[in-house]
Amino acid sequence: MSTGVVVVGSFNVDHAWTSDALPRPGETLAGLYASGAGGKGFNQAVAAARAGAATTFVCALGDDSGGRLARDLAAADGIALHAQGSDAPTGTAGIFIDARGRNCIVLGPGANAELSVAHLRAHRADISAARILVAQLEVPPATVEAALQAARDAGVATVLNPAPANIDVAGGLVSLADVLTPNETEFASLLAHHLGERIDPDEVAMLEQARLHDLCRALLPHGTVVVTLGSAGCFVSHPAALRRGDDRPHYRTPGERVQAIDTTGAGDAFNGALAASLARAPGKAFEGHIVFATRYAALSTERTGAAASMPRRPELESRYGG
Ligand code: AMP
Repeated sequence: MSTGVVVVGSFNVDHAWTSDALPRPGETLAGLYASGAGGKGFNQAVAAARAGAATTFVCALGDDSGGRLARDLAAADGIALHAQGSDAPTGTAGIFIDARGRNCIVLGPGANAELSVAHLRAHRADISAARILVAQLEVPPATVEAALQAARDAGVATVLNPAPANIDVAGGLVSLADVLTPNETEFASLLAHHLGERIDPDEVAMLEQARLHDLCRALLPHGTVVVTLGSAGCFVSHPAALRRGDDRPHYRTPGERVQAIDTTGAGDAFNGALAASLARAPGKAFEGHIVFATRYAALSTERTGAAASMPRRPELESRYGG
């Protein structure tokens, strides 16, 4: 079976403590502990695989229990794993969550920071054989750029999820995206960095659609921009010459009403499912892919965890029909 989706990105072991309040400097608190697999890259790979695409994940792992966890979990979901070995520890995230759901996170990138252009190039054949390549910004920008360029050279469509928002991403890298998928915070940060436009992330969803479309066109003139708006759904903007089967150049799609208990990884669920849908049905109108990804991401919020919360296709079909 040829690979539908290649994800290039991070794997982290998440360690999360939930307590009444967040600790202050010097303070020690007791809390409930849980650990699980995460990292934007791995979450998106698990989402793509569970959404029904043959999936390959290119990453870097340490020679430790975290690395072994990644290999076991990838095998359990049928993901082909191409991990660069590293002397650094596997990536980690320490997460403190308070009773109001607010969190503080410290990331230990570890091996993720070492994912090399050479490792990526060693797996060019997997990229060339895929339908969709997906990348985010938790691994070195040079590696992300090499991945997007390898896909473009092979005529493979690219999805760039410009997350997390605090990473400054070069214009040349953004322009290698066929589909760019920022959330409101990431969109505001891209606008500030690339266009000098200061917009409050909380106001993005309130902007007039024509204005949002103009901003998207200025940001990525030749590609599609999908701004995810949490429970409010998405805004989609296409270039004039490329509507991907849609009958409108820009539009809003609604969110799905669900009993959300944990939105960690919702953006990753959306990106993995979007990639899987694009790979499985390339001829379908783009809005249909957005509807699928929105449903998939909404279901992921009804349970806790990052990679572990990704739904499987039968769950999606029993909720929304086949
Ligand atoms: P975000 O990164 O928060 O914009 O979320 C990505 C996608 O996940 C959104 O476009 C929605 O499809 C979905 N999503 C996130 N939060 C919720 C929620 N509370 N209820 C339903 N869907 C959600």
